[in-house]
Amino acid sequence: MTRSNALERVSRYFDSGGFLADLDRRVGYRTESEEVDHGATLLEYLEREIAPSLHELGFSTRIMDNPVAARGPFLIAHRHEGDDFPTVLSYGHGDVVRGHDSRWREGLTPWRVTVEGAHWFGRGTADNKGQHTINLAALRAVLAERGGRLGFNAKMIFEMGEEMGSPGLRDVCTALRDELAADVFIASDGPRVAAGRPTLFLGSRGVLGFELSVDLRDAAYHSGHWGGALRNPGVVLANAIASLVDAQGRITIDALRPPPLTGAIKNALAEVEVGGGDEDPDVDVDYGEPGLTPTERVFGWNTLEVLAFGAGNPAKPVYAIPGRASAICQLAYVVGTRCEGAEAAIREHLDRHGFSCVDLRISLHMPATRLDIDNPWVRWASNSVARTTGRAPVILPNIGGAVPNDIFADVLGLPTLWVPHSYPGCRQHAPDEHMLGGVAREGLRMMAGLFWDLGEGSGLPGAFQR
Ligand SMILES: [Zn+2]
Repeated sequence: MTRSNALERVSRYFDSGGFLADLDRRVGYRTESEEVDHGATLLEYLEREIAPSLHELGFSTRIMDNPVAARGPFLIAHRHEGDDFPTVLSYGHGDVVRGHDSRWREGLTPWRVTVEGAHWFGRGTADNKGQHTINLAALRAVLAERGGRLGFNAKMIFEMGEEMGSPGLRDVCTALRDELAADVFIASDGPRVAAGRPTLFLGSRGVLGFELSVDLRDAAYHSGHWGGALRNPGVVLANAIASLVDAQGRITIDALRPPPLTGAIKNALAEVEVGGGDEDPDVDVDYGEPGLTPTERVFGWNTLEVLAFGAGNPAKPVYAIPGRASAICQLAYVVGTRCEGAEAAIREHLDRHGFSCVDLRISLHMPATRLDIDNPWVRWASNSVARTTGRAPVILPNIGGAVPNDIFADVLGLPTLWVPHSYPGCRQHAPDEHMLGGVAREGLRMMAGLFWDLGEGSGLPGAFQR
């Protein structure tokens, strides 16, 4: 019954192929939440994979319909050992983005795990099946090594709609606020800052997704005969976007800019580097907000991106002025940005700059969150990871991408610790998604260490010192 035995046990699970078998089976479920006819598979994943795994660990589980019609179900799980023990809430999502089967490299398929050296390919390996498979296995190892006890209480919520913006998650957590009460939230999603750097992140940038569209006519008209007499929606839209963000990626509308970086955030980010991995793209050092490092731009600043842009048919252009143009845009933003008023501010900005014909539709809003870096749970988790890996983890105030952390931080009021098991080059949301075997193995050990330490009691914040 020792910590190192728990770590050994979970390493053996990886080395003997147990982890690969579990992950491969889970990747085999086509849980593409964006495909409307995949509802049965979403439910199956919870019923046949997650619930049985949790029953084996002594959890009671129940599956709940989504309060939002035609969206994936939830699974709620409980395991109670004692009223005086700390309680952890964890989370995972079993849905994935579309497989895009035909676009994967020769020899790969999204729906099987293909191991090529260090790379484990398959849809969901990085996001999020690989990550929650690690955490469930780490719990199992601790439980086995402690003779059927964890030493803490555990609750879990799984959703099947994260890739759709987590519909219903806020409603469910609000309704179950008492039932999901806990002392700390520990879960895994998203990437480490680099493959070789274990990372803790404490929140995420928020996301404001919006569509800009210019819909002027039902038909396209000959560009020679009508050019000059008709307003071109493509030109108007390009200029509208350019009024929000300049050619260097600097946001020019005040309402979408964050407050200046604090010294504490700058310090936390000082040793973090964006990119630099073998498969990472080259970082554009001279792009984005002037005066900031690329790291500060990703983790401490806001960015406005164009995700998709369309007018006419670029594959088969014709000599015509298109009738409409549209762009899907996204603001990633940090805590402190006044995003509640963003819609009105963008509208007012467009009108003031002569773009009243540009329609604005907000499609998604996930608020930004950030646990205080001095919170005692942060120190506890950092010490635990250091004890397992021999090196203090990178602590990110928030990750650049979005997780539905505001629901856990704000609705449930929990200190939120995220321990990511993916890495920046994982091709999450693209063809050839993969995780790294070495990172998965280290992740298993880190999580087993964290869960072991949570049940041990020593070094825990406040009331749970034992
Ligand atoms: Zn995702």
